[in-house]
Amino acid sequence: MPSSIESAEKAGRLTGPVPWVAMYHSVGDCSDDPYRVTVTPGRLEKQLRWLRRRGLRGVSVAELLAARARGEGRRLVGLTFDDGYADFLDHALPLLDRWGCGATLFVLPGRLGGDNAWDPLGPRKPLLTADGIRRAAAGGVEIGAHGLTHVDLTKADADTLGAETAESRSLLQDLIQSPVDGFCYPYGTVDRRAVDAVRDAGYGYACAIDPGDLNGVHALPRVHIGENDHAVRLFLKYRLHRLRRRPVEGL
Ligand SMILES: [Zn+2]
Repeated sequence: MPSSIESAEKAGRLTGPVPWVAMYHSVGDCSDDPYRVTVTPGRLEKQLRWLRRRGLRGVSVAELLAARARGEGRRLVGLTFDDGYADFLDHALPLLDRWGCGATLFVLPGRLGGDNAWDPLGPRKPLLTADGIRRAAAGGVEIGAHGLTHVDLTKADADTLGAETAESRSLLQDLIQSPVDGFCYPYGTVDRRAVDAVRDAGYGYACAIDPGDLNGVHALPRVHIGENDHAVRLFLKYRLHRLRRRPVEGL
């Protein structure tokens, strides 16, 4: 059965500029952070306050796309957190609640309770356990899949590609006892074959970073937000994103 987003897309009801989706990873101490994937709780709070002052509100990607399908949601910004770090529950979720924001958390069901072993440099950061993911879902956070184990899908063989897309979805659906509609490409790397695998696995949407010609509901562009993104830089990223990206087909 097609998702509501796909149905709306086919019905031609999605129009307008490309949605703005912010990409976060870890929220905590960023003193040792060679990949620049960490923001401090203080910085995240300032960024959420910045959104509020501009009349914008952070929501999950599912909520953002559903609003766009209704012809609404121009003041909504997607907030995504990749990898499913354990610090999400302690540091991000309380701030999202305080500022009335939703978010999407992209997790790795093949690394429950593990760590970011795919990053050769930098500190090991613990990932959420199954129970932690359920607690995030119970807190109103949309849970999406980031594959099984954080593999570059553009370099995966057919069996791995199938497992990282379809198996991660079924494992997560069993884990949270709820449909999983969103996928996020590890490293943001994406090609046509990966997009087709994600669509065939039943996902209604997928997040990339800079998908180029693959731009679409299964390869949504996102903007990296880091510790150095104070108000002026956030404003520039927000404006430049809208100017530089051509509209997503049908979105
Ligand atoms: Zn990742």
